[in-house]
Amino acid sequence: MERKVLVLTEVKEGKLRQVSLEALTVAQQIAGGGEIVAALFETDPNAYIPEISRYGADKLYVSSDASLSVYTTDAYMQALVQLIAEVQPDAILMGHTAIWKDLAPRLAARLGEGLVTDCTGVELVDHHIVFIRPIYSGKAFQKKIFNEGIIFATLRSNNFATKESPKTVDVISFHPTITDLRTIVKEVVRKAAGGVDLSEAKVIISGGRGVKNAEGFKPLQELAEILGGAVGASRGACDADYCDYSLQIGQTGKVVTPDLYFACGISGAIQHLAGMSNSKVIVAINKDPEAPIFQVADYGIVGDLADVVPLLTDEFRKILQGATN
Ligand code: FAD
Repeated sequence: MERKVLVLTEVKEGKLRQVSLEALTVAQQIAGGGEIVAALFETDPNAYIPEISRYGADKLYVSSDASLSVYTTDAYMQALVQLIAEVQPDAILMGHTAIWKDLAPRLAARLGEGLVTDCTGVELVDHHIVFIRPIYSGKAFQKKIFNEGIIFATLRSNNFATKESPKTVDVISFHPTITDLRTIVKEVVRKAAGGVDLSEAKVIISGGRGVKNAEGFKPLQELAEILGGAVGASRGACDADYCDYSLQIGQTGKVVTPDLYFACGISGAIQHLAGMSNSKVIVAINKDPEAPIFQVADYGIVGDLADVVPLLTDEFRKILQGATN
């Protein structure tokens, strides 16, 4: 069955987000030979066109409207309502990122359509598209289908393999009418960020209260650098002021699905597991052999993280440097 699929893509720090490429790949799967239409609101979209066309988009709507240069709910909502009216998609896909988490439910309500959020899997069963999403903090999975209306879903990062399907994309300039904005962003002051984006990292080294102090995060940072990963934390570590809350993983922090997750000095409270238990491989380092984190870990190391983490870093360094020599 052919479907026209609209994919709302997003750029972060000068790069197309990985989850946008994942959404384009899912679009290839569900379009059934139908048209894939991408949209990108960026002041200078040209740099991203080759990548979007490599992942199978037939058309790309770009808008460099100044009021869309920084995300605001108001302006994006007005633009997207007009874009959807023009494109008339059968399905709309986007990442489960901060902006689409904010906008997707409002947009669905405005359009009078259903919405499935935070999907971690998509299956085609007969002619139905089945969306799979975790519920009860990841303890169960729910399968959802749309009986009518636009198929509308947000996808969790790192859960869908990407596949290239190069096409020549038709780039269309889109000029929405945006009026009566209730909020205007005058300035965005970013925290000094560096390294790998936690929400899309393939490897995460997380520290908990067992790290003992802010200084104790340095060995975790070194291991993350060797493995090309990002550093995360439990709320225990954030509350104790060992690190910034932007690193918090869990029910009230970020939800991550890396290929490899190290939990160092983290007990494994249910609220922490809610943010990381779908990681592909979990390694727990804890000096308490009874710590609940071992129940979800694929590999467990009972020991003092102050000894174990530097040993692991040395071993990975030897292996990875050996591989490049
Ligand atoms: P602890 O539970 O104190 O565990 C420290 C662990 O380190 C212990 O297992 C200990 O054996 C081990 N350890 C100590 N020293 C060493 C050492 N030298 N070497 C190795 N291991 C060592 N928590 C989150 O993480 N994310 C959330 O989003 C979140 N949301 C919450 C929302 C609500 C509404 C509530 C009520 C709680 C939430 N929490 C969340 C808090 C959660 O319940 C736990 O309190 C928190 O996860 C504990 O952090 P921790 O594992 O670092 O600390």
